[in-house]
Amino acid sequence: MEQKAERAAMDDALHEECGVFGVWAPGRDVARLTYFGLKALQHRGQESAGIAVGDGGTVMVRKDLGLIDQVFSDADLSALTGQLAVGHVRYGTAGAKSWEAAQPHLSTINDVIIALAHNGTLVNTDELRRQLIDLGISFLSNSDSEVATRLIGYFTQRTRHLREGIRKTMELVRGGYAMTLINEQALYAFRDPHGIRPLVLGRLPHDGSDGDVLHPTHSAGWVVASETCALDIVGAEYVRDIRPGEILRISAEGLVSEQGVAPEPESAECIFEQVYFARPDSIMGGKSVYACRYDMGRQLAREAPVEADMVIGVPDSGLPPAEGYAHESGIPFGEGLIKNRYVARTFIQPTQELRAMGVRMKLNPLRDNIAGKRLVVIDDSIVRGTTMVQLVKMLRQAGAAEVHVRINSPEVVWPCFYGIDTDVQAQLISANKTVEEIRAYIGADSLAFLSVEGLLACMPAIGEGLPAGGVRGYCTACFTGVYPVAIPASFGRDKFMPGYDPCNMTEPAALPRDVVAKKEHDHSWEAAHGV
Ligand code: SF4
Repeated sequence: MEQKAERAAMDDALHEECGVFGVWAPGRDVARLTYFGLKALQHRGQESAGIAVGDGGTVMVRKDLGLIDQVFSDADLSALTGQLAVGHVRYGTAGAKSWEAAQPHLSTINDVIIALAHNGTLVNTDELRRQLIDLGISFLSNSDSEVATRLIGYFTQRTRHLREGIRKTMELVRGGYAMTLINEQALYAFRDPHGIRPLVLGRLPHDGSDGDVLHPTHSAGWVVASETCALDIVGAEYVRDIRPGEILRISAEGLVSEQGVAPEPESAECIFEQVYFARPDSIMGGKSVYACRYDMGRQLAREAPVEADMVIGVPDSGLPPAEGYAHESGIPFGEGLIKNRYVARTFIQPTQELRAMGVRMKLNPLRDNIAGKRLVVIDDSIVRGTTMVQLVKMLRQAGAAEVHVRINSPEVVWPCFYGIDTDVQAQLISANKTVEEIRAYIGADSLAFLSVEGLLACMPAIGEGLPAGGVRGYCTACFTGVYPVAIPASFGRDKFMPGYDPCNMTEPAALPRDVVAKKEHDHSWEAAHGV
């Protein structure tokens, strides 16, 4: 908890839990391919990194706390030889920040060896962990991902069939997950039945002969990854998304797909991928994340126009919507903030003096560009509000005549249980204040958020068919309180404030539902979060 409080004080933003990668490519340097794939996914997690390699006879893992480059030397990668690999970068929400919680998790039960990389959060692992402990299975961490690893190992050893072990585990666990897994010979990729966390399949280029794309003998290999930007970096071509509830097995026998658990009639993909988490050069649902963000800016300009001289974006994710807002409104787009890309990634513990510098450690205003101007400032979200307070102050000190804040997502009112670090509801400023109260708190001349309907209108392929049937939909729970996966009371009840009634603590619910009226303002926020 101490680590989390420290992190929150430094960093007022939502965080993805992880990025996963997997490759099956005999004859290729799978460890280095994974290393480069993880480099492309580094934005999804900076706490730890790991690679597991299968060589036909065994599985080797190297993992540690730190960025990819801090964890892997050239010699480390050279020592990881094999035909297939999985990799992981982590920003932990479930489980402590420790070596043991770093992934891939390795499980060895008798002769069954597996290594698993997980993006997401499982909401019902407490009881499953207790049951496994009763069966004599020990744990190294309190991570939900380790529970999934041990469950798969346990069922595989019982059934003598790894795909069956995965399938039985998928039947038991609830939550958001995209997982890659290897044993000595095969790579597996599977995704929860709502498809909350992303996972894509790519093909490494073959030797030049024409071949069936679904047969690896005609391909130099296969890649699975959280985002298409990780396919691009290793030269793999996007084939398709892993389907909700699907298990994909890739080995010398070919690429085999089976439905592990039945998919939901409508998927519930995390809409925050397009808002903030994913890289703008990734493609999701057939539309680039950049194009989605640009459209959000256009929609925001239609919903919340304002008279101003220049539109600026808060780097990085606020830049495409700022361009869209400028396009739609006719107000010129300009650079107003320069980001120091390396400060946020440091592992040096912040001192009180550094904390006091706050947002200045990450962003610096371009005074010549903004002095005397009425600014529209676009950012992806407001979580606790502490960063925006400092940002508005900094822009005013740099000479901005007016600061109009526009947010290209709706208000974050509800905590996330599917892999995003939004902490408890009491930490979310929008659960505690009205929009006007937030405007006053951050010191802006005006403030507006994109509507839920407006955001959904910018999403790719909404309502269209998915390959396995059903239609594409989106999770909007952090805006609406409508949770697509039931949250066990033991996992979530204490994370909600009195007076809030989330939809679907136990049963599936219909989307969408209006945002619940906010709690009356009691002024405790200033006391807890004063800047
Ligand atoms: S609650 Fe929000 S952040 Fe979490 S999965 Fe749903 S849309 Fe994404």
